Amino acid sequence: MNLQPVIGLETHVQLKTKTKLFCGCLAHSENVAPNTNVCPVCMGHPGTLPLPNEQAVTWAVLLGLALNGQITPHSKFDRKNYFYPDLPKAYQISQFDLPIMTEGEVELDDIPGEQPKTIRLERMHLEEDAAKNIHGDDGKTYVDYNRGGTPLCEIVTAPVFENAAQAKAYVQELRLLVRTLGISDGDLERGHMRCDVNISMREVDEDGKPVSPMLSPKTEIKNINSFRHIERAIAYEIKRQTALWEAGNPPSKTFTRGWNDVKQATEEQRSKEDSADYRYFPEPDVPPLELTSIAKLVKRRLPELPAAKRARLKAEYGFKAEDIRMIMEDPALTEFAEKALSELGAWLQTKPDVTPEHMPEARQKLTKTFSGWLLSKLMGLLEERKIDVKTMKLTPEDFSEFVSLIADSKLTGPKGLEVLGKMLDDGSDPSHVMEELGANRMDDMLALEVIVKTVVEENPKEVERYQAGETKLIQFLVGQVMKASKGNADPSKTAQVIKNILG
Ligand code: ZN
Ligand code: MN
Repeated sequence: MNLQPVIGLETHVQLKTKTKLFCGCLAHSENVAPNTNVCPVCMGHPGTLPLPNEQAVTWAVLLGLALNGQITPHSKFDRKNYFYPDLPKAYQISQFDLPIMTEGEVELDDIPGEQPKTIRLERMHLEEDAAKNIHGDDGKTYVDYNRGGTPLCEIVTAPVFENAAQAKAYVQELRLLVRTLGISDGDLERGHMRCDVNISMREVDEDGKPVSPMLSPKTEIKNINSFRHIERAIAYEIKRQTALWEAGNPPSKTFTRGWNDVKQATEEQRSKEDSADYRYFPEPDVPPLELTSIAKLVKRRLPELPAAKRARLKAEYGFKAEDIRMIMEDPALTEFAEKALSELGAWLQTKPDVTPEHMPEARQKLTKTFSGWLLSKLMGLLEERKIDVKTMKLTPEDFSEFVSLIADSKLTGPKGLEVLGKMLDDGSDPSHVMEELGANRMDDMLALEVIVKTVVEENPKEVERYQAGETKLIQFLVGQVMKASKGNADPSKTAQVIKNILG
């Protein structure tokens, strides 16, 4: 039997508005005592009225446009009824048949090892979050209502994913998008993004065509909040359901499961209600949302979206896909890199030895130097200092000057690292730091020869072994010269001088 997974995702994204979706309580409840950001409205007291948060509605529309979807002209809120301690009103204000957005799409052009794929979105709606149940060590369950009422955008895809890699790439792209728009921090670990994975298997023929157009009942894995768990839960479910199919016993109804990371397995939870069980009906206390004029206004505020930015970084600078991925991971880093790159581009234009026909090649080489220093060296130095791009003192201008010195061979690798570290610590420019550290690359061959001769005299045993054929020892001798020159000697020139002197 040929089986193929059918996977769809429902992702809740927490909007970083100052206040909750329908009241004035603060929406950020991290490091806040339980049940302090609450009021009669979000506690569902009788007689209170919800008032929609304009910022949340505007951001939801912005997200809908960025997801290339249809904005519903007359949208509305509905009550989703269920009885549970995390829901003081016994209903959640959500959206049923007229969500903020329908028919969107996300283009995935960077799935590791796969062709680009368009992910079709069914809908995106706005809703309030439920409170948080905390299971105490004493066996009791406590409820913290701080989170209750914070705004969420729920994005629902069509069942179009075929494997875990695609699902992960989609959530990463979604996270990048909400960060680019500045509407959510998108931290999965902190619960800003939570995923429900819907998964079933279907039988396909030898050409991979489905045997039946009908989908089998799905299993929903609820509330996954890390990329690793998404991948593992999907891999586990594919295995588990495949075994059921092969035993002639495929899932006959819809199930709800959760990911248990300790057991590395999904576990059955309460079985899912039908949507009829929620008895959706229009929220009578909130007027319908007229979104056409908001959409018109917000459209002008759309920034360059991740896919377009990736394409541009590749076309303009010739970056590798994985370098682009790293640069785009953090919006502060993206901004820093783009500013530094534009400075470097201007610098390259002024170089007399780079003719127009050599420009693409020179640019490519410069990009390589740039990404090496940005993504491995600078990131390493920041990590050591426990600071990030947002808070560092280094300016894009100084960094681009630094890279130009490296590219011009005016600064060597090891010394360069020292200079860059000092630039980070003092916030000073590279020429200053170089003067201070005495970091002038040794172009004086005579001076270099003097140091090489001293090193040769001081290491007679190694020299003898080298001359007897142990050529690897040249690395040791180069190292000694680098040390004696305080990192200013050029390693390849040094090796040449050693070879000349030792014959
Ligand atoms: Zn409140
Ligand atoms: Mn939801």
